[in-house]
Amino acid sequence: MSRVLREFREETRAWLEEHCPNSMRTRMVPGEEVNGGTKKRSSNPDAYTWLEKMSARGWTVPTWPVEYGGAGLDTDHFMVLLEELQMLGARPPLGGMGVTMIGPTLLEYGTEEQKRRHLPAIASGQYAWCQGYSEPGAGSDLAGLQTYAEDCGDHFLVSGSKIWTSGASHADWMFCLVRTDRDVPKHEGISFLLFSMDSPGVTVQPIELINGQSPFCQTFFDDVRVPKEDLVHKVNQGWTVGKRLLQHERSGLAALASADMAGPMERIKPSVSMPELFAKYAGADSDLDSVLRDDLVANDMLLTAFRLTQRRTLEESASQTPGAATSIFKYVEANYVKQQLELQLRIRGTQGLGWEGDMFTDEEVSMCRLWLEAKAISIAGGSNEIQLNIIAKRVLGLPD
Ligand SMILES: Cc1cc2nc3c(=O)[nH]c(=O)nc-3n(C[C@H](O)[C@H](O)[C@H](O)COP(=O)(O)OP(=O)(O)OC[C@H]3O[C@@H](n4cnc5c(N)ncnc54)[C@H](O)[C@@H]3O)c2cc1C
Repeated sequence: MSRVLREFREETRAWLEEHCPNSMRTRMVPGEEVNGGTKKRSSNPDAYTWLEKMSARGWTVPTWPVEYGGAGLDTDHFMVLLEELQMLGARPPLGGMGVTMIGPTLLEYGTEEQKRRHLPAIASGQYAWCQGYSEPGAGSDLAGLQTYAEDCGDHFLVSGSKIWTSGASHADWMFCLVRTDRDVPKHEGISFLLFSMDSPGVTVQPIELINGQSPFCQTFFDDVRVPKEDLVHKVNQGWTVGKRLLQHERSGLAALASADMAGPMERIKPSVSMPELFAKYAGADSDLDSVLRDDLVANDMLLTAFRLTQRRTLEESASQTPGAATSIFKYVEANYVKQQLELQLRIRGTQGLGWEGDMFTDEEVSMCRLWLEAKAISIAGGSNEIQLNIIAKRVLGLPD
């Protein structure tokens, strides 16, 4: 390692040691995360101290240019920062669709004015964003979307509805795919708009999920006025922008600093190791049966291979931006998470099925709800089948 990197490592370690609050050096607790905006607050005040310190250094989005709220780190420096954060067990200071999805997309497709207006606000966590893609009749076939934006000279008027809009009830802004031309092939008549969720004509209706929570909504638009300066890229070329954003969503690379430490893979871990969990429920003298042992080892190997591949891909990617291969990560991660939670359930037995009540610990209840919630992970952001289609076509080059 070069002297410059060594010095950066030492300085980073000392700075993190001094500024990372103790409670931010523990595993993320549900309700304590910060995803931007003011409508949904973290229950831990330290989370905001941590966010302020990190964003002042540009370390909520370390690889973004300094003028847009980042620190302009190259891959080598970014990896050092990431390693130091991991060594400390530090939580990501900021998550959400701003830093992981729309921010990286605006870096590529936004006008200078859009970048200056939105990126620093995203980097400092000022606003929370949500994604207006899916519609009741357009999920996997996203390009079939019907929400219409009428061109009214200096603005659009948007009408229609989106569904499964995660976080819409506490988002400040939406990035949204709309139809701007009905008379051309479906992919060629789509545009990409940004608008405030407080715009007149936007209504949000929460949808309750199998785990008892309502993290997503149906969102209705009734003649929502969107100024032309909030169009990203060109009219009728929104499909290109929308697809690029999906690669960021699926990659986990764009937000490696956060994904590694607070993504689904970390959230699903039990508080003790899997063999300890087994001893706790089956009794210290019980032997792991060979089938369960094999399944645990296979699941662990999958995780290790995934992490190494994710890291290698980041190191090899000069541009630090994801490509079609991100569908592989999305697919493998979804399978890993679902398998891991099934294994925990097998170990906990009926204690793993606690919904509420004194018979169950808080961890048992929250893991049961997570097990139910995780059923959706192979659908969210594009289903497993769609990822396999993309891998076949764009990665392996197989014919349609
Ligand atoms: C937890 C969660 C959060 C979400 N958050 C958001 C959000 O914030 N914003 C947003 O816009 N959307 C969001 N979505 C929606 C998500 O993107 C869609 O659910 C997903 O794209 C699938 O679309 P669909 O539900 O309409 O299913 P459909 O497209 O109707 O698919 C039904 C089934 O058919 C299969 N299928 C469909 N087409 C093919 C094909 N060509 N080849 C093989 N199999 C196929 C699918 O794999 C699936 O199993 C979220 C979904 C979930 C579960």
